[in-house]
Amino acid sequence: MTKDYYKILGVGKNASKEEVKKAYKKLAKQHHPDLNKDPGATEKFKEINEAASVLGDDEKRRQYDQFGDADAYKRAGGASFSGADYGDFANFASHFDFDDIFDRFFGGGFSGFGGRRQRRRRGSDLLYELEITLEEAFAGVKRTLEFPKLETCSSCKGSGARSKEDIATCPDCNGSGMQTRVQRTPFGMFQTTAPCHKCRGRGQYIKHECENCDGTGVVRKKKKMEVKIPKGTFEGLRLRISGEGEPGDSGAEQGDLYVLIHIAPHKIFERRENDLYVEVPLSFATASLGGEIEVPTIEGKATLAIPAGTQTHTVFRMKGKGMPDVHEHGHGSELVRVMIMTPEKLTAKQKKLLEEFDGEVKSKKFGLF
Ligand SMILES: [Zn+2]
Ligand SMILES: [Zn+2]
Repeated sequence: MTKDYYKILGVGKNASKEEVKKAYKKLAKQHHPDLNKDPGATEKFKEINEAASVLGDDEKRRQYDQFGDADAYKRAGGASFSGADYGDFANFASHFDFDDIFDRFFGGGFSGFGGRRQRRRRGSDLLYELEITLEEAFAGVKRTLEFPKLETCSSCKGSGARSKEDIATCPDCNGSGMQTRVQRTPFGMFQTTAPCHKCRGRGQYIKHECENCDGTGVVRKKKKMEVKIPKGTFEGLRLRISGEGEPGDSGAEQGDLYVLIHIAPHKIFERRENDLYVEVPLSFATASLGGEIEVPTIEGKATLAIPAGTQTHTVFRMKGKGMPDVHEHGHGSELVRVMIMTPEKLTAKQKKLLEEFDGEVKSKKFGLF
């Protein structure tokens, strides 16, 4: 099937890379499925990504222009944009960094390899679980994270060698990085191929190892870092901090740091989406006569008007008093459920008044007794 990627991004055939980038960013924001709830948004978003992944890459664009269909560059050995890649981005909508994703398409992160698509091992991602209070989620908060992290060794710049002259082709694997072993067993001979032990699969052998890192090229350090937790953060939100994971092979991308947010249970509020639920006591007299009561809010206090004749368990909605939306789409509500309290200890006077009241109610209203 032929798709017109220029049409999808709404740019002309002679559009510059900058124009393509601008068009992509605008459309991606419009159609991101977490921001756009239209049923067709996901499909549209995929299409935009696919178009950008082709038009944003000089080589793929050239092939696409030449062959005129989306599969041309695949046949020519280029990479394709898969659904799996898309799924990866989709989880991070709230901190979705369009520039970052764009750079992935547009080769920003991989340009250092001199045109050869050599895959070096990317650094590992790190996961940091962080618990914050509901009040902090409401207002947004800055937290300093402290965690052990592998970093590129500063003495050898990650090579693991004491000096450049100490790096030589591995004699055990002749630089291939792999070793083949033949094993004899009662069932026959088995040949296994595994990364070379001596060079750890690198193909290079280090004569004298760097003393600072014992030849590993990395050192474990305590890392301190401030992260900003946005307003409206919810349980299970994952913040991605690009490039703050562990280092990969020399020259490869660093991993990412993910901060997984947990929100501590609150003493009085229960959160559902952006709404806050709370139960407050209400006196029998105020419920009957009506009046104003003070109710707690996540920020402090508010006044709630109680109409006369309110029944117990009635829920009142206070608009705008809930949690802020993480995408900055306003605030949720606070839902106040009033619980009418039956007085347990009565003075003689109160008792007398209630008896009088009860007698009147029985004779006037119900007439059943
Ligand atoms: Zn070192
Ligand atoms: Zn080797």
